[in-house]
Amino acid sequence: MNLNKDVIMKTFPFIHGQYIRIAEYKIEDVLPFVVSDRIMRYIKEHKIKKGSPEYIKITEKKYDGHMVKMMSQRYQLFAKQGITCVQCGVVGQYFGLEKNKNEERERYHFNLYGIKDGVETLITKDHILPKSKGGKDTLKNYQVMCFECNSLKGDEYED
Ligand SMILES: [Zn+2]
Repeated sequence: MNLNKDVIMKTFPFIHGQYIRIAEYKIEDVLPFVVSDRIMRYIKEHKIKKGSPEYIKITEKKYDGHMVKMMSQRYQLFAKQGITCVQCGVVGQYFGLEKNKNEERERYHFNLYGIKDGVETLITKDHILPKSKGGKDTLKNYQVMCFECNSLKGDEYED
């Protein structure tokens, strides 16, 4: 996948908080490739084993020379409910291809970012009913929220 000229240009890799970012991708280069419910059903029905070559072929996609897992509830939330913070309305503008600073493996994932008051802000998946109050890890209990609003809500941020 080529970095498009519309993508905000930075010198990569660069360190952003706890992450090392190696590339940025437009929304439409990532969201359509999130593993959907339909694909998940297909995997179940065909008893495709986790980690098998076929499984990897279906659930991972190559970006910037790295295989990225495209199956996560966070991506599914963005694909289904959108990329706008339900609290302040900041809209996700691009994905950073990143890994945790202390992660030794070259295993990258996407983080969604929007620009709020001229500053980059991470867009997260928030538990509507917090886990501490018995909230479940299901799409129904998630909403899209930027890091700042999530912090104000007082929940712990979860990746
Ligand atoms: Zn917000």
